[in-house]
Amino acid sequence: MQVTRETFNEVMVPNYNPAAMVPVRGEGSRVWDQDGVEYIDFAGGIAVNVLGHCHPELVKVLNEQGSKLWHLSNVFTNEPALRLAKKLCDATFAEKVYFANSGAEANEAALKLARRFALDHYGEEKDQIISFTKGFHGRTFFTVTVGGQPAYSDGFGPKPGAVVHSEFNNLDALKAIISDRTCAVMMEPMQGEGGIIVPDIEFVKGVRELCDKHNALLIFDEVQSGMGRTGKLFEYMNLGVTPDILTSAKSLGGGFPVGAMLTTNKIAESLKPGTHGSTYGGNPLACAIAEKVFDIVNDPKILSSVAHKEALFREKLKEINDKYHVFSEIRGKGMLLGCAMADEYKGKARDFMMAANEQGLMCLVAGMDVVRFAPSLIIPDEDIIEGLARFERGIAKMLETQSLENA
Ligand SMILES: *Cc1c(COP(=O)(O)O)cnc(C)c1O
Repeated sequence: MQVTRETFNEVMVPNYNPAAMVPVRGEGSRVWDQDGVEYIDFAGGIAVNVLGHCHPELVKVLNEQGSKLWHLSNVFTNEPALRLAKKLCDATFAEKVYFANSGAEANEAALKLARRFALDHYGEEKDQIISFTKGFHGRTFFTVTVGGQPAYSDGFGPKPGAVVHSEFNNLDALKAIISDRTCAVMMEPMQGEGGIIVPDIEFVKGVRELCDKHNALLIFDEVQSGMGRTGKLFEYMNLGVTPDILTSAKSLGGGFPVGAMLTTNKIAESLKPGTHGSTYGGNPLACAIAEKVFDIVNDPKILSSVAHKEALFREKLKEINDKYHVFSEIRGKGMLLGCAMADEYKGKARDFMMAANEQGLMCLVAGMDVVRFAPSLIIPDEDIIEGLARFERGIAKMLETQSLENA
C-alpha cells in the first residue's frame, strides 16, 4: 500500500502538523526519507533517541527479549524490570521505582503519590500543587493542568483543582504563595519545551529549602533533562539539589516507550496495593531495552563526552552567529541546547527549523523563539559539524529569500 504525507491529512486526527517528508530508516544520527534523501538528526525524536537510531546493542536486546517475553501485566513481576529498578536505585537517591509508559504517566503517578502522601501524613487540607510558568509535564489532564501553559489545558472542561503556578526562576514569587497547604512543588530542573531555560542554582536550592520548611515534596520532572543529556545521569546531580520524587522517560528507553517514577522508601509507602497502576508499565520488553540504554549511558566515558560535544556545538554556533547575527543567546546544557532568536527574528523559530529541514537537518523548536537541538549523546563529531553546516546553509537561504522579499 502506497502511503505519503498526504495520507496523514486523510486519516490522522489533525492534532499534529508533521514535516513534509516521511522518514523510513535511521542509523546512528542519520535518517533517510521515502525518496532516499538523507538527514542529520539533531531532533533525536524530541530528546528520546539518546543512542541514535538502531544502536546495534539495543537492536540485539530488542530481538533477544522480543523472542523471549514481551508482556505479562503487573499480576506478575519480571526480571528486566527488577534489574532496571535496582540499577536506577543504585545510581540515584531513590529507593523505590514505579514504571510507566511515558513521561506524562510517570508524572501522573508522581502527582497522585504526592497528594496521597500528604493525605496520609498531614490530612486533606494539604492538597496544593505548585508548578511554574512555561513548565511542561505531559498531556494527561492532571499533568497538563500542572504544566505552565494554560493554552494547552484550556477548553477541556473543569480542571483538577488546587494547582497554582509561580514564575520560574523567581524565588520571591514562590515564597509568596507556598504554605503549609502546599503538598508538592513540581519543576523541571531545566525547562525543555518552555524554551531551554536553565534556572539559577540559588533558585533551585531555595525551592528545596521552601519545600522543607513547609513539608512539601519536591518533584523533579527529568523526563527531558535526565538520562545523561546534561552530562550527568540526572540534572539534579549537576545542581546538587536532591528531589523527593524524580520522573524519567524520553531518553530512558532510547526510543522504546517507557517511563519511571523514582522516590524514597518512606514516600513510596503511600502507594499501597491498589492505589495506582498500569497494564503495560514495567513490561519486560520495555525494561530490557531501558536496562541496556541505562548500562550504556551510565558510563563515565559517555557522560564526560557530552561536555566535549556541547563545546563543539557552541563553537560552531558562535561562528554561524558571528556571520548572521540571528541568535541572541545559545543556552542549555550538554545535548539539550537552544538557539534563542535575536529580536529581529522573534517568533520565527519554526521558519529556521523548516529551512534547516530543507537542507537535510532535522531539528526542533521550543516555543516560537528557540530552535532546539536534542541529538544522540554519541553523535559523531563529523555529524555535528556536517549538521551545523546544513543549518548554516538553511539560515543563509532563509535570509536571502527574506531580503529578496523586502527588496
Ligand atoms: C516530553 C515531556 C513530558 C511528557 O512526556 P510524554 O512521554 O510525551 O508523555 C513530561 N515532562 C517533560 C519535562 C517533557 O519534556
